[in-house]
Amino acid sequence: MRIVIIGAGVAGCVMARRLTALDGVEVTCLERVTQDDHSEAGTGLNVGPNAVKALGATDPELTARVTAAAFAWSNWRISLTDGTVLFDLALKDVADGPGWRIRWSELYRVLREAAGDNVAYGCEITEIARAASDPRKTAVAWTQDGRRHRLENIDLLIAADGRYSEVRRTISGEAPVRLTGVAISRLLVPDTSRGLIDDYGQWFNGPNRLLAFRVPPDHVYVAGTFPIEGQIPDHMKTPDTLRATYTPQHAPVSDQAGWLIDQLAGNVADTHWARMQEHDALYRAADCNVLYLGDAAHGMVPTLGQGATQAIEDAACAAALIAMRHQAGQRDAARWCQEIEALRRDRMRFVMEFSWAATDTVLAGADPVAGTRHKTEQPFLSKLKTLYRDIGLPLVDNKA
Ligand SMILES: Cc1cc2nc3c(=O)[nH]c(=O)nc-3n(C[C@H](O)[C@H](O)[C@H](O)COP(=O)(O)OP(=O)(O)OC[C@H]3O[C@@H](n4cnc5c(N)ncnc54)[C@H](O)[C@@H]3O)c2cc1C
Repeated sequence: MRIVIIGAGVAGCVMARRLTALDGVEVTCLERVTQDDHSEAGTGLNVGPNAVKALGATDPELTARVTAAAFAWSNWRISLTDGTVLFDLALKDVADGPGWRIRWSELYRVLREAAGDNVAYGCEITEIARAASDPRKTAVAWTQDGRRHRLENIDLLIAADGRYSEVRRTISGEAPVRLTGVAISRLLVPDTSRGLIDDYGQWFNGPNRLLAFRVPPDHVYVAGTFPIEGQIPDHMKTPDTLRATYTPQHAPVSDQAGWLIDQLAGNVADTHWARMQEHDALYRAADCNVLYLGDAAHGMVPTLGQGATQAIEDAACAAALIAMRHQAGQRDAARWCQEIEALRRDRMRFVMEFSWAATDTVLAGADPVAGTRHKTEQPFLSKLKTLYRDIGLPLVDNKA
């Protein structure tokens, strides 16, 4: 049986490592960049406890390796930029364990090492097509080190090629995008805060919000958001405007927020800018054996830190399902895709809708004080419990 995975990012590496262990399965994972190229992974990630739980249930050794490269994400505090605390949540009250705080490049390093020799790096895909012999199968062509390669009769093609998935565009068409009207800037800086910044925090000035946490080794991830109409205006990216955006007008700025504002204003050249958006979820192609995972399957607003988290959850669930069916002698890739879609579809709808709803406090005209107080109440907290605990693994008691 032949399986090809496109992309050795978060979901692709988890899949490659697990599927390679199956008897009689030939796994090829094709990655565009070289193994040590982390140029597209410049910032930090907070990965939710749900990903740790899902990976822990399916690949404890890999989970331990990531844990060793991360700090625990154990607490979530929301304040105003004058220091007033609005929300202070121990994650153990809503989850079965901590999440991870990690440099994105470190997560890639650990996952790519664990995926081993089955990943071919520096591959440029030149063709993705339905196989001539059987329209449910696919064919992929690529070049590597100037040489051309082609694999025919692929029983299962797994698209783990991220947000701008070429596989999804080619096989199932462009995914419609919805914008929230919020700009987001992200930065990774050396930790010169002298202990001011550690676990996950957010600081509001009106709807304008700072977010930060410390990651190993000795860095701080800083993100800022503010409402926009259409494109992000260039004048909003200047040091003076950024200072004004986050500095409280009627009270002194807190030490934490002051340090974060200095970082954003002092590092505009290194800042990564984006507009908050989501795109439609799709787990499988309608008429051939192509499975979408991670950002290739769905894009959600980053409010609850669920992008990489769901890529891990997707891959852990999909790998567990495939391994289980394969070991039971059930080798029909179309059925696997249907079952994985059935496992993930409602869960993903919940995660996307919850992430979108939780964005209320950063929209134009939002009142972050009232909005954050709602987040201390039972309806929000019980949804967080569902998010962090109910991972939906096949044959695993995921509420235990
Ligand atoms: C700045 C920033 C900060 C973020 N912060 C968080 C956070 O705090 N928490 C969180 O959970 N998520 C966060 N996310 C989202 C998270 O990074 C993504 O959701 C996650 O990486 C998706 O994993 P994936 O496996 O689907 O894709 P990726 O990790 O993007 O991997 C895709 C892989 O496919 C490769 N590839 C792409 N096209 C091709 C091709 N044609 N051929 C071969 N290979 C290809 C890429 O090189 C890459 O290695 C953030 C995203 C950004 C941009």
